[in-house]
Amino acid sequence: MRGCCQGEYRCYLLAESPPPRLRSLKRGLEFAKLRSVDSGQARGAVYYDEEGNLHEQLARVVVICANGIGTPRLLLNSKSKLFHDGLANSSGLVGRGCMLHAGRGVRGIFSECMDGYLHSGDAPFYSQQFHESNAKRGFARGHSVGHECALGRQSSRRDAKPLSPYHSCHRHWEDLPDEDNRVELDFQAKDSNSVPAPRVVYSFSENTRRMQQHGAQSAREFLQAAGATEIHDEEAYPWTSHFTGTARMGNSPKTSVVNAWNQAHDVPNLFMADGSFFRDRCRSGADTNHWSIGLALRRRNLAAQGRMEVRD
Ligand SMILES: Cc1cc2nc3c(=O)[nH]c(=O)nc-3n(C[C@H](O)[C@H](O)[C@H](O)COP(=O)(O)OP(=O)(O)OC[C@H]3O[C@@H](n4cnc5c(N)ncnc54)[C@H](O)[C@@H]3O)c2cc1C
Repeated sequence: MRGCCQGEYRCYLLAESPPPRLRSLKRGLEFAKLRSVDSGQARGAVYYDEEGNLHEQLARVVVICANGIGTPRLLLNSKSKLFHDGLANSSGLVGRGCMLHAGRGVRGIFSECMDGYLHSGDAPFYSQQFHESNAKRGFARGHSVGHECALGRQSSRRDAKPLSPYHSCHRHWEDLPDEDNRVELDFQAKDSNSVPAPRVVYSFSENTRRMQQHGAQSAREFLQAAGATEIHDEEAYPWTSHFTGTARMGNSPKTSVVNAWNQAHDVPNLFMADGSFFRDRCRSGADTNHWSIGLALRRRNLAAQGRMEVRD
């Protein structure tokens, strides 16, 4: 799941993608909003060129993959007479229910070298012992554990300051989709084309805090059993790499934004193929990329079969 020095777990193009076949694709455009027509279909996306001139790219089918922050920003900024709260937002849930991997580490200091240099990346050992929900623990959902061993030096330079070898247990917590945790538009902060910036409003829920306590305790037990001479709790942090849940998937247009085909309930020719549609945090702290790629490939295959406009 992790640990590739090429970084390909973050880059589908590097790892798996065949050479691009979409010859007419314009790259590097930043879209300001999507436009729709009176029948309720999306008609294309609007962007500014480097000189600040406005253009529109028309499309029969629109697929957004701007991820958990960019996608709701684009939708919320795409208001019209028909979609006055933003495109595909009749449920009011676009941007709502933002879920992160709220992390927390516990660090153990060891007297012997931890052989960290033998591993690429930072998680030579990964456990999902606590990833299923278990009511006895006093919280819903679960967390997974990654372990990181330090080299024993601040860097690989010969003159680097020696550090005590340490082993860090860091955990990914699975948030609940709390609607107060959200992405919204910030009308005070705008980009150079006066497009409102996204603002992320997030705090740990009581459930996430309980999960953090449980995870930290089990990490301390692990490090103690492994022979750590000192154990230090690190501060909990909202991990800002995995943003999901802000255009959630579901069967009902009242309680979700897209259907099981990643298709907007409100706009039949609009699809979302990124982390924003996840309803849960990919099963307790699993990384997001593989899920996004898998579902995007499913969408691509349907498109290739001419089934892109399939409805439930
Ligand atoms: C530091 C870090 C470490 C990570 N580590 C891992 C890991 O180890 N394993 C793992 O599985 N995942 C990891 N992830 C998560 C992984 O990178 C994401 O899940 C994945 O990139 C999501 O792919 P995506 O295509 O949906 O979105 P992104 O890769 O975020 O791509 C969205 C694209 O949309 C563009 N965009 C946004 N708004 C607009 C707009 N208005 N107009 C035009 N373009 C727009 C953005 O510029 C961006 O290029 C990590 C993420 C970070 C930040």
